[in-house]
Amino acid sequence: MAQDSRSLTSDSAPLLENDPDSTVRPGECTNHGTVTTQVAGATVEAANARLEFLVRAGVVLMASLEYEERLHNLARLVVPYLADWCSIDLIDREGEIRRLLVLHADPARADAAHALQTLYPRLWPDTTHTITKVLWSGQPWLDPAVSPERLAREARDPQHLELLRCLGFSSEMVLPMLSRGRLLGTITLVRDSGASHYTHDDLVLAQELASRAAMAIDNARLYRQAQEAIRARDEFLAVASHELKTPLAALRLQTQYLLRQAETGMLTAMSTDRLMALMKMGDRQIRQLTKIIDDLLDVSRIEAGRLRLDRDHVDLASLVRDVIDRFAEEAAARGSQIHYSQTGSLSGHWDRFRLDQALTNLISNALKYGASQPIEVWLEGEADRVRVTVRDQGIGIAPEDLPRIFDRFERAVSNRDYSGLGLGLYISRQVIEAHGGKVQVTSAPGTGSTFTIELPRFV
Ligand code: ADP
Repeated sequence: MAQDSRSLTSDSAPLLENDPDSTVRPGECTNHGTVTTQVAGATVEAANARLEFLVRAGVVLMASLEYEERLHNLARLVVPYLADWCSIDLIDREGEIRRLLVLHADPARADAAHALQTLYPRLWPDTTHTITKVLWSGQPWLDPAVSPERLAREARDPQHLELLRCLGFSSEMVLPMLSRGRLLGTITLVRDSGASHYTHDDLVLAQELASRAAMAIDNARLYRQAQEAIRARDEFLAVASHELKTPLAALRLQTQYLLRQAETGMLTAMSTDRLMALMKMGDRQIRQLTKIIDDLLDVSRIEAGRLRLDRDHVDLASLVRDVIDRFAEEAAARGSQIHYSQTGSLSGHWDRFRLDQALTNLISNALKYGASQPIEVWLEGEADRVRVTVRDQGIGIAPEDLPRIFDRFERAVSNRDYSGLGLGLYISRQVIEAHGGKVQVTSAPGTGSTFTIELPRFV
C-alpha cells in the first residue's frame, strides 16, 4: 500500500472514474462584469461555508477520547451536509479492512444502512474494488456519475447490489485517511439519485476532512496506547513489588528471630543444625531476590540491545548436571525427581553463564509448574547441533496461551496461585536466539509441558 502522506490541492490528480463537472471554481474568471461579481460573491460564500464546516468538523473530532466515537460524530456532521450517506472503513491490527459505520440521512433507509454494515462487515482485499484501490494507491477517488454497470461490477452479490441500490448511489467520493505516512482507512461519501454530482472542489474539501479525521484517529490511538502502557507499568510495578517483598519479609522475620535469640542469650544454645537450616533459608531468600533483580536488569539489557555473549568451550552435559544438582534440595522438598540422560557429543562454543541461566529457568519452571511429578531432562548431540529437552507432567499450558508465554511479562497462571514476573522464558528465548538457536514448547493442560532448546554447536 502507498505509504506517502500527501495533501490534496486543486492541482493534485485524484483517481477519476469520469471527468468531474466543470463548475466554476474559486479564482476562475468570466467575461461579464456583473456575472463575475455575482459568481465571486457566491464563491466567497461557498468558501466561507466550507471553512465553517471544517471548523465544526475539527470540534466534533476532538469532542471525545475514543476514536470510534469521534468518527461516528463526524459521520453525523457529514451526512447530510456533504453526503446523503457515508461509510467509514478502518484497517485493523491484522491488516483487514473493517467497516466501522454506515449512516444514511433518510431514516427510512436506516435498516438498509444497518444491513450493509452488519452483513458485509469486512472488505476483501480485492484490487478491483474502489476502496481497496484507494487503499493501495493512497489517492482519493471521485466518480461524479456512478454508472449502473460499475455498481453491478463492484457489488459482492445480488443482495449487496440490492442494498446499494436501496441506499441510492449516483455520485461517489472515496477518501484515504493518512496520518504520519500510514493509511488508517477510508471515508466513502455518496450522493443519492436526484442530488447534484460531486465536483473537484467537493473532493478537495472531503480530502481535507479525511486528513483531519486521520489525525484525530491517530491521536486517539496514541492516547489509548499511552494509557495502556501506563496501566501495564503500574500493574508490573505492583507485581514486582510483591515479588520483591515476599523473600524480603521472610528474611526480615528470620533476622529478627536471630536477633531476639542473641539478645536473650539463647543463640549459643542453638544447635549447629538449626543455625545451618536458618542460614540456608536466608541464603535461598537472598538468591531469590538476586534472581528477580538480575532478571529485571537483563530485560533492560535486552531491550537496549546490549545482551552480549561471552563464548567459550562448554561441555553442556556437565553444565546441565550442575544445574540439576543445584535444584536437588528444591526437588526433594517438592517431592519431585529429576531424571537425566544423554546421547552423543555435547560440547560447543557457547556463553556458559547465559546457557546456565536459560536452563535454570526451564528446570525451575518444570519444578514450579510440575505438580510434584517426575521431570525428565535429556540431551542429544548431533553433528552440527545439540538438543536439550525438559519434560514435566504438571499443569500444562492452554493452546491459546502458548504463543505468548515467551513474551515479556506474559504469564498463563494467576499471581495468586504461582509467584513470578513472566520474565524467565522471555530471557531464555533471547539467550538461545542470540546463540542462533531456538526454543519451543509443546503442552496441553493437565498433561505437562515439554520445552526443547536447539543449539547450533558452532556459529
Ligand atoms: P514466570 O514463571 O515467572 O511466570 P516464565 O517466563 O518463566 O515466568 O513463564 C511464563 C509463563 O509460562 C508462566 O507464568 C506459566 O504460565 C507458563 N509456564 C512456563 N513454564 C511452564 C511449565 N513447565 N508448565 C506450565 N506452564 C509453564
